[in-house]
Amino acid sequence: MKLFWGDIHSHCGITYGFGSLTNALGAAREHLDFCAVTGHAMWPDMPELCSDTEFLISFHKTGFSKLRNNWESIRETINSYNRDHEFVTFQSYEMHGSTLGDYHLISPDDDLKLVYADNPHELLNKLPGSRAIMVPHHIAYASGYRGIDWNAFDRTISPVVEVCSKHGCSMSDKAPYPYYHNMGARDTHNTVYEGLRQGKRFSFVGSTDHHAGYPGSYGDCKLAVLCGEKTRDSIFNAICAGHTYAVTGDRIRCDFTVNGAPFGSFIRAGSQPREIVFDMKASHFIDKVVLYKNLRPVRIINGESLTGVNEKGRYKIRIEMGWGNNQDLFTWNGSVKIENGILTDVEKCFRGRSILAPSADLSASDNVNSIDNRILNSDENGLEWICQTVKNISPLHPSTSAIVLEVEGDLKTRITGKINNKNFSLSVSDLLEHSLVCPMKPFNSQSFKIYQAVPQLQYCLKLSYTDADREKDCDFYHAEIYQTNSSCAFISPVFVE
Ligand SMILES: [Zn+2]
Repeated sequence: MKLFWGDIHSHCGITYGFGSLTNALGAAREHLDFCAVTGHAMWPDMPELCSDTEFLISFHKTGFSKLRNNWESIRETINSYNRDHEFVTFQSYEMHGSTLGDYHLISPDDDLKLVYADNPHELLNKLPGSRAIMVPHHIAYASGYRGIDWNAFDRTISPVVEVCSKHGCSMSDKAPYPYYHNMGARDTHNTVYEGLRQGKRFSFVGSTDHHAGYPGSYGDCKLAVLCGEKTRDSIFNAICAGHTYAVTGDRIRCDFTVNGAPFGSFIRAGSQPREIVFDMKASHFIDKVVLYKNLRPVRIINGESLTGVNEKGRYKIRIEMGWGNNQDLFTWNGSVKIENGILTDVEKCFRGRSILAPSADLSASDNVNSIDNRILNSDENGLEWICQTVKNISPLHPSTSAIVLEVEGDLKTRITGKINNKNFSLSVSDLLEHSLVCPMKPFNSQSFKIYQAVPQLQYCLKLSYTDADREKDCDFYHAEIYQTNSSCAFISPVFVE
């Protein structure tokens, strides 16, 4: 089984988002294993028309009819990017719901029909013979205000719930990334924890809900899927089986099992003890890892206790590019060679433009998502890349892009490279002490930063925990991982019956 990374909820100019569909699919193919580009399709209980809602209703209706008029060609384009074992696409469209909350449909079937209904069940009933699921999203908005109605939740049509996106994190009211979009605040009645507390059973996914055609845009959430191969059927079946988890930013890898069964499983344990094994590889310094039983923390590891520095082995080195005062794209050309060591992995943290929804003062062309973010070549000796960035939205809201290298070697391993016209050469030992920040111009400048190296002992962790106590008819165990750069992973529960 392997982990694959994707985004099953993102938008572009096929409805009321921005940017072309082909740019969106091209960007996704560059850094994801799979994606869905979702068309906004319907809002059966849309608010009444008044002067306050005029703009809202108008852009929704225009977007919905755009999708209806172009559905055949959109479906064909999405299908044309699907290449099993290389890059997988899904068909998808979205139903807003003031009272039931918003859901998006995803399907592996290219002949999927665009049908209209009053609720998620009715929608699927109108698609006999199609394989499809309905994923609730931005669930923690207030009831009646497009937050989830847990009473109406049905795991048979919704095996997974989107627990984080560009809207924020819906896990609980204590979770990081509270809601700050113009749709309002996070309500404790409609969180993931509340659904689990009420006995609902589902797995976690993250997706961006990006509206400027950049699926998987870094920092806006995505999902990991555990399955056998990178094909539509394998990935879709694993999502239906709940073998998924959510991350907000970095690709935190996690193998989490109870009695050998992976996240999302339903198992029977009888009276035998539950053996929980948790093997994780983060992308940055670990801040905290928490194992929960029935939403109660039973094992907590604080990052402060991870102080080991391996003198040989693996190290993570992050190179982040951006800053400056430019609204237009600034281009970065980078290359790195590894001496006395090898490059074992490269993680791409590429961003699109940050747009969550249309507003009256916003316009953008189909080219808004024409952004050249690519690894040009890489092998165990080094890599070359190109990426493009714009100024940060605010000091607390970055627009940077990054790559994260994993190198294997020792303290003398050297990272030598060039980014635009700036050269650098640093040993692992140098990077364990200090970062390197390099502005390109004397003032208000684009900059790059090579972060302090993270030693393997501070980003890899293996835990096991034995629990002999049966508390309920169905106990469940889930895990949460936090890094010091505020990336987190929400690992789906294993339900023990
Ligand atoms: Zn959406």
